[in-house]
Amino acid sequence: MDLSTSKSVVIVGAGQAAAQACASLRLFGFEGGITLIGEEAALPYQRPPLSKAYMKGELAEERLYFKPEAWYQDQNIDTVLSVRATRIDRSAQTVELEHGGSVSYDALIIATGSRPRALPVEGADLDGVFDLRDLADVERIRPRMIAGQKLVIVGAGYIGLEAAAVARQLDLEVTVLEMESRVLSRVTSPVMSGFFEAEHTRQGVTVRTEARLASLGGADGKVTTAVLADGTELAADIVLVGIGILPNVELAEDAGIACSNGILTDRDARTNDPRVFAAGDCAARPLVHYGRQGRLESVHNAIEQGKLAAAAIMGKPRPPEDCPWFWSDQYDLKLQIAGLSQDYDETVVRGDVDARKFAVFYLQNGKLIAVDAINSPPEFLASKKLIMTGARLAPETLSDTSQSMKEIAAAAV
Ligand SMILES: Cc1cc2nc3c(=O)[nH]c(=O)nc-3n(C[C@H](O)[C@H](O)[C@H](O)COP(=O)(O)OP(=O)(O)OC[C@H]3O[C@@H](n4cnc5c(N)ncnc54)[C@H](O)[C@@H]3O)c2cc1C
Repeated sequence: MDLSTSKSVVIVGAGQAAAQACASLRLFGFEGGITLIGEEAALPYQRPPLSKAYMKGELAEERLYFKPEAWYQDQNIDTVLSVRATRIDRSAQTVELEHGGSVSYDALIIATGSRPRALPVEGADLDGVFDLRDLADVERIRPRMIAGQKLVIVGAGYIGLEAAAVARQLDLEVTVLEMESRVLSRVTSPVMSGFFEAEHTRQGVTVRTEARLASLGGADGKVTTAVLADGTELAADIVLVGIGILPNVELAEDAGIACSNGILTDRDARTNDPRVFAAGDCAARPLVHYGRQGRLESVHNAIEQGKLAAAAIMGKPRPPEDCPWFWSDQYDLKLQIAGLSQDYDETVVRGDVDARKFAVFYLQNGKLIAVDAINSPPEFLASKKLIMTGARLAPETLSDTSQSMKEIAAAAV
């Protein structure tokens, strides 16, 4: 369907993917109206600093925003903020808004992101218990991040561990609870999990694995204790919940758009309705380097799909689909991840774990599928390219530090 002469594009959700879609539509020459509907009060902003520099108080709020308000005015983009989109009527081609009213579209981009998984225990609604997803969450958490306060973090994923690192740097007493047998168990290998667990322990965090939170106790409506399934009681002034996210697919699902752990799209970010696109955390897309469909939760993915949707609407050639990538900052450690490691059958370590400068490569039948690189940008950059070409590499070559990554990449088949 040719949408390039559309008069109006509506974008639901005003986050990373939406901001990119706005910029790309204008870059690709779209001259019609763009309406951006976001339930948060803020213009689109970056989330990664919320668990890093911004949480620590080292980044001014203005630096979070992708573009200032004047840019949206200059670009003739109508920003409808603090308003939730409640329904998509595909036959009328409208998006209905809470408090009434609707907006018509020729093309629609759903970029509703994801929301934190709710903590399923008694006491989750006590004062002092927080999620970490948006700016408003951090505004509530930051005043409580006072030296000496006892912080219990539920879930040892990237966000939980980044928050633990910030809290230690601010001198809080930090305990991380993880119900699995190792930290980051869903996303990385035992060697990386062991490294991060040791690092946090060295920095003064109490890491408790195989620790299942049973309930939160409080006094006068405020959280005071975290009770584990084995009966252990931990004192808590603040509890931060980081147990994963759920994609915001309900708008699409209710409108009859195909979903399966995410809004299903083709390579152009198009759903099963040719006028409707989906981008970012809410979308499940073809992962072209892995031969399957999947949902990614990363800045790179949101940017790429925002671009893909804009290009498809404008009938432009499909922008390149890069190897998926992600990063995490904890203390002075920069973790850079390229690729998706889920189905690996072999790991190879290159570099010196004790020197905190190393990489773990993930192979599947000899093919490089992912890397986790700690303070090692060359390993990350070279792997990104090698993954896209489907390179096969011998473990002894990858671990051989007498050859640079550049040399290894040049010789790879
Ligand atoms: C604390 C934190 C740290 C992170 N760190 C990293 C990192 O280091 N590296 C990395 O690659 N990624 C990181 N991420 C992930 C990354 O920020 C997300 O993958 C990215 O923001 C996804 O973009 P998005 O546009 O899909 O969703 P979002 O940026 O979440 O935007 C979606 C927006 O849609 C709004 N919305 C939802 N439903 C509706 C509705 N019905 N009507 C109107 N508006 C609606 C939401 O309120 C939200 O504002 C981090 C995320 C968090 C929360």
